[in-house]
Amino acid sequence: MGKVIDVMSLYPKDMNIYGDSGNVLVVLRRLALYGYEPRLHAYNQGDEWPERVDMILGGGGQDTGQKKITGDLFKRAGRLRDLAADGTPMLMICGLFQLFGEYFETSEGERLDGINVLGAYTVGQSHRMIGNLVEHSDEFGDVIGYENHSGQTFLREGTLPLGHVDHDGTGNNGEDHTEGARVGNVIGTYMHGSLLPKNPAVADFLIRAAVTRRYGEFEPDQSSEQMFELARLDALADKARKVAAA
Ligand code: GLN
Repeated sequence: MGKVIDVMSLYPKDMNIYGDSGNVLVVLRRLALYGYEPRLHAYNQGDEWPERVDMILGGGGQDTGQKKITGDLFKRAGRLRDLAADGTPMLMICGLFQLFGEYFETSEGERLDGINVLGAYTVGQSHRMIGNLVEHSDEFGDVIGYENHSGQTFLREGTLPLGHVDHDGTGNNGEDHTEGARVGNVIGTYMHGSLLPKNPAVADFLIRAAVTRRYGEFEPDQSSEQMFELARLDALADKARKVAAA
């Protein structure tokens, strides 16, 4: 049996908008192409927590979806904070990015508390920030995607953004050119798209972190067909990134 990696999809029923589930598919596919054995755990409200979690992927959602899951999220907050502090890679898009921060105050003035894994807070406004998003990250290069949110997110001192938006898109708040947040191996971002098919460097960061944390090293065991398929996927992503960043 190959080396298993346990991947959690967090609240896929309520938090999975604009194709964010594509991120889960990419991670499963790439893990398999690197010669690992991915095991998927879809975790929805009230579900049992799996025995082992090596990576957590969460998507965006409407304010109503966010309201639905906050009770359960708080029940799991301690565990999520511990996993984050222990280096578990996590990717949280839009609605869950907001709830991994301190709070999200909706445009109607309702405050949803977050679990404070990322030092950031979000305030809703009536104007939505919608459109293509291109940002530059020193670690991942150009990261491309699509944003659609009412919340303006502001990072607390000491929290790094995922990247900087120069011209295409609004990013966290439209004021300071930051986009997303990064604390340890936890990434929060407004990038839908889905993000990972077009940005394999981010997918590989999550994969490497998960594998290294569990097995001590990242040592792919691949056939030449698997290598070829990965190269083909990367070439497709490159093409998409060139078009978007042009
Ligand atoms: N409801 C949140 C907002 O509008 C998140 C939206 C999303 O996940 N796309 O800011």
